[in-house]
Amino acid sequence: MGMAMTTEPTEAPRKRRPRIRTLEVRRAAHLTAGIVRVTLGGPELEGFDTPTPTQHVKLFLPEPGRDRPVLPDPNLPRGEGPQPLMRTYTIRRLDLDRLEMDIDFALHSWGIASDWAANAQPGAVVGIAGPGGRPCPPDDSSAWYVLAGDEAALPAMGTLLEAISPSIPVRLLAEVPSANDRLDWNRANLQVTWLDRAGDAMSAGSRLEAALRATTAPAGSGRVWLACEATAMRRIRRHLLDGWGLDPSAMVTRGYWKQGEVNYPDHDYGED
Ligand SMILES: Cc1cc2nc3c(=O)[nH]c(=O)nc-3n(C[C@H](O)[C@H](O)[C@H](O)COP(=O)(O)OP(=O)(O)OC[C@H]3O[C@@H](n4cnc5c(N)ncnc54)[C@H](O)[C@@H]3O)c2cc1C
Repeated sequence: MGMAMTTEPTEAPRKRRPRIRTLEVRRAAHLTAGIVRVTLGGPELEGFDTPTPTQHVKLFLPEPGRDRPVLPDPNLPRGEGPQPLMRTYTIRRLDLDRLEMDIDFALHSWGIASDWAANAQPGAVVGIAGPGGRPCPPDDSSAWYVLAGDEAALPAMGTLLEAISPSIPVRLLAEVPSANDRLDWNRANLQVTWLDRAGDAMSAGSRLEAALRATTAPAGSGRVWLACEATAMRRIRRHLLDGWGLDPSAMVTRGYWKQGEVNYPDHDYGED
């Protein structure tokens, strides 16, 4: 008996939507006065791709006062239906054995994500999609690394510090809201400079800029990774090109947020 031949209807290829996973807060604890580490977990983390340093997730958060986040509906065209509340956060640590992920939130005066993290309780539900962002594998042939950033960039700098070969000297400059926001970095071959903003939020990035202007590039061919407020990032990037004489290929510069803007885009590399 012959098999009937069927013809599959041909469908226009659809742009793949990232999978959204629903996770719960397992615990939340202050790392410093202004930084809260939230550990998310749950069975849906199974199979999450191992991120390279600095990669991020898109975090879907509940509206204030709600228990569950609105998640994008894969059956609706983008932009239609209830709009999810989404922010970008670095994957600080992924532990697939425990099905856990750490995210470190810098608290600032107001913001959906900052307010949510400040009050996060075990059992609270969020959505995540990722990992996203250009892969940023460390370069083992680099003579040195300079890592520079503000409190929003501390988690990404942490992932880089863990990945850069211990034999490569690292100079880390971190601008934070107050002296109570310093972390205890442990690594051989590491020189750390903490710059305190002393509560002057509007000047974010200017102490980082001044510190980088006050020094020249270390000798030899090395690499810079920088992330901070977007306008300050552009000024610093200019100085790295003109003052330090770095080639654009030797640096990654990123605007992580911008004064006065909500949910700043995740792909501002200042290359304009
Ligand atoms: C790739 C990438 C990775 C990131 N990783 C992290 C991370 O691991 N941890 C982290 O804390 N942040 C991280 N950020 C920054 C974070 O996405 C933004 O700070 C985000 O805007 C915070 O959302 P929100 O809802 O709290 O504030 P929003 O609603 O977006 O903004 C509300 C107001 O707060 C201001 N604002 C936003 N962020 C800050 C800030 N950091 N300091 C002072 N004022 C601010 C805005 O200008 C606006 O006026 C990352 C950003 C990118 C692009």
